[in-house]
Amino acid sequence: MALALTGLSVWDGRAERASPRGWTIRIESGRIAAVGPDPELAADAREIPLDGCTAIPGLIDAHVHLTLDPKIIKPADQFRVPVGELEEAMVERARAMVRAGITTARDLGGGEWFELALRDRIAKGEVPGPRLLCAGQPLTSPGGHCHFWGGEFRSPDEIGLVIRRQVERGADWIKVMATGGVMTAGTRIRDLQVEPDDLRRIVELAGEAGRSVAAHCHGTPGIEAAARAGVRTLEHCSFVGTGGFGSGFDRGVVRLLASKAPGGSGVSGQDLWVSPTVNANWALRSRKDGNPTAFGMRMARVLRAQREAGVRFIASTDAGIPGVAHHRLPEALAVFAWMAGMTPVEVLRTATSESAAALGIADVTGALEPDLAADVLVLEASPLDDLDTLRVPRLVVARGEVVALDG
Ligand SMILES: [Zn+2]
Repeated sequence: MALALTGLSVWDGRAERASPRGWTIRIESGRIAAVGPDPELAADAREIPLDGCTAIPGLIDAHVHLTLDPKIIKPADQFRVPVGELEEAMVERARAMVRAGITTARDLGGGEWFELALRDRIAKGEVPGPRLLCAGQPLTSPGGHCHFWGGEFRSPDEIGLVIRRQVERGADWIKVMATGGVMTAGTRIRDLQVEPDDLRRIVELAGEAGRSVAAHCHGTPGIEAAARAGVRTLEHCSFVGTGGFGSGFDRGVVRLLASKAPGGSGVSGQDLWVSPTVNANWALRSRKDGNPTAFGMRMARVLRAQREAGVRFIASTDAGIPGVAHHRLPEALAVFAWMAGMTPVEVLRTATSESAAALGIADVTGALEPDLAADVLVLEASPLDDLDTLRVPRLVVARGEVVALDG
């Protein structure tokens, strides 16, 4: 039976404003059948009256790790969680995410493909959760960032082996660790860890297998090399220099990133998005006693300079890393908007239509338009006026199914 959400103001994921009140979203067979002011759209449907509420597309978190427990500080301790417990915890994380209005997420790395198994269970409707896109084992240099996940390569030939292994397991994306990372002892986050030739080879081989590449990069040389190699998303992109996050700010590299954005002036055929993994905890890291911290000032400069230059952002949290729970993207968006100087509608696009375009799923989700999946987040007030309304969803629909928010 069709489902009709009525009495809504609708923001479609793209427009500057939401529609007037009184609109209906008609849902049939998991898809949006129609959106508009015509009361006939509710005919012969189960109606859920939502007078005065605002509907937006379900949110997309472009960088999470379902296998990671955010309460565990040391990466090695993650492996001590028994498999059965881990699988249960992952189901709980997925449930919490979709109940928070996150209807799609991209998982950017784990060691044993458990997140791909969860992706398939969610897709079959066995457990509630967001639609998942998964990268499996990230490619990394010997002893490099997250080498414990099994994606090390020692030679150019081994690049092909690691990529083939992910593709055979059903990975949707290929991830590469272009620089060191915070989580891995012995790596330096500002150093390039993968040779530019190898980065190009990764992009080429992934492309032959029909996969796009996400590059983890903190240090400025890694950001530049990954962008030049033709990756589709730059993760973190934190311009780390000798003075920490944001201290390696480089206007020339920002211009390079902007030139490769969709519609930019750079090489045609390359679309580049930046996924800065601004999580909700950045509110605390960035401000103390009402004043910006050094971290906050540096990262605000980095993010604002990118935005002003025309770099395209997608929202992401790196959920699963210590202290970052999987369901907190809605809170993170207000922090991201503030840090990068974005208006509410701009930041909401980074978590909906813009993200869907970056992830290659704009024909599936990311907007409230006919024929797309019925991924809908309904809120008591308009998040275009106040992003804090995202914190308490009134109703979530994921692929046409109403998600239980209580119990
Ligand atoms: Zn990550």
